[in-house]
Amino acid sequence: MKVFGYYPYDTLASRVIGFTGSDNQGVIGLEVKYDNYLKGIDGTILTLTTAHGVEIKNAAEDRIEPQPGNDLYLSLDINIQQYAQQVAEKVMESKQASNVKLIVMNPQNGEIMAMVNLPEYNLNDPYTFNEEFTALYAGQTLTDQQKTEALNKMWRNACISDTYEPGSSFKIITATAALEEKVVKLTDRFFCPGFKKVEDRIIRCHKAGGHGSQDFTEGIKNSCNPVFMELGARLGVDKMYYYFDKLGLFKKTGIDLPGEAGSIMHKKENIKAVELATMSFGQSFQITPLQLLVASSAVINGGKIVTPHLGVEIRSADGSRIKELDYPTSEQAVSKETSETMKALLEAVVSDGTGKRAYLPGFKVGGKTATSEKLPRSSNKYISSFIGFAPADNPQVIAVVLIEDPVGIYYGGTVAAPVIADLFKNILPYLGVDENYTEAEMEQFHVGSFEMPDFIGKTRKEVNQMMKIYEFGELDALGEGDIVREQFPLAGETIGKGSDIILYFE
Ligand SMILES: [Zn+2]
Repeated sequence: MKVFGYYPYDTLASRVIGFTGSDNQGVIGLEVKYDNYLKGIDGTILTLTTAHGVEIKNAAEDRIEPQPGNDLYLSLDINIQQYAQQVAEKVMESKQASNVKLIVMNPQNGEIMAMVNLPEYNLNDPYTFNEEFTALYAGQTLTDQQKTEALNKMWRNACISDTYEPGSSFKIITATAALEEKVVKLTDRFFCPGFKKVEDRIIRCHKAGGHGSQDFTEGIKNSCNPVFMELGARLGVDKMYYYFDKLGLFKKTGIDLPGEAGSIMHKKENIKAVELATMSFGQSFQITPLQLLVASSAVINGGKIVTPHLGVEIRSADGSRIKELDYPTSEQAVSKETSETMKALLEAVVSDGTGKRAYLPGFKVGGKTATSEKLPRSSNKYISSFIGFAPADNPQVIAVVLIEDPVGIYYGGTVAAPVIADLFKNILPYLGVDENYTEAEMEQFHVGSFEMPDFIGKTRKEVNQMMKIYEFGELDALGEGDIVREQFPLAGETIGKGSDIILYFE
């Protein structure tokens, strides 16, 4: 995606891209960050004049030609951004939420593919309130200062500038620290009576009657608070903070945007048993959604802390590359072994746990739900969220969605997980990730009929494998070569179980 001085997509990624002022200076967003590269040089004519102001013809006239600004190429993918905005708008409307944030990133290198902050505003008319802000301030006369504050709020990129209590999605971090430190095994058993007594406090599980006896795998699938409080206690404050630090939670991610916030953490010396217990399931401290995304990426990518970023390269107006942008990555924040274990655990959360509404047959999705109470807790307001990645065994995409103040049901597993499923269902094929059904999935989801897969370009060996997965009737293989050039029925057609197919090899 390319950014110009004007904004052909109006509201798309408005809080990321930002805009320039009348003097062509970036006011906010990427326009500020890359201002030096983007702004052109105004044409200037230096002319010698006589003392009376008359131009001297043919004197040393020096004309500086106006230069157009360079172009910044972004990792934001126009199709993914548009699709992400669509699914976010859908849930914002259906849940009458006050705002929705959604970030989609490549967990292997930190390239941001989409960043949505609803409500967006029109980049070509940034000083006019959008619909939501118009409604919010309807009937009020704002002073200049109030209007400026409101506009700043409308322009703010909350994905990177707002902190929140991450809640249960933070159990990813606690579980990782506990596995790294070897204070837990998957087979360890726990008992949840619905609460855990920590010093003089009763801290409840989200399941009032308790989860009863469960092993660690079940504990994470159930998102059981007492299991994680126990892990926090086994780790202790020093180890907990050691892993927070390793996973980058004490510093900003370094994204190439202005206005990034950092985390708000307890001073280590103030953490007693109760704080440690609540921290272990994501309460009593605050981070940004982007920090959670980066730390979780390290957990599932084999241990690399990537720098999330949007800028990929700078090109001049004629298209030639001026600068390739690169970003630091640090290795081994998490061991390969723990990373493998966590991928499998988080896939189990989706296939058979609290995240099951993010389940997508044919794709392996991993993730974690969260329902954060907004502060003060007495306000009974919530942020429903879900962080998910796919394919679980070799993640190519990770995304986090936060839905603030949903009306009615507010559980992350119910409200937020399907948003990521909807997103992944559409972007995974676009990213070149093929559907791959297990036999159980074929049984469960393809009863009666299914979608004809794409055989074009497959080898005979690959075809043989696909014949075993899909329930076709007879294969009529024509031609002598090794590669499929034509197929009937065509890819994408709905066909009945047991249908015969024809492939032509060349
Ligand atoms: Zn429990």
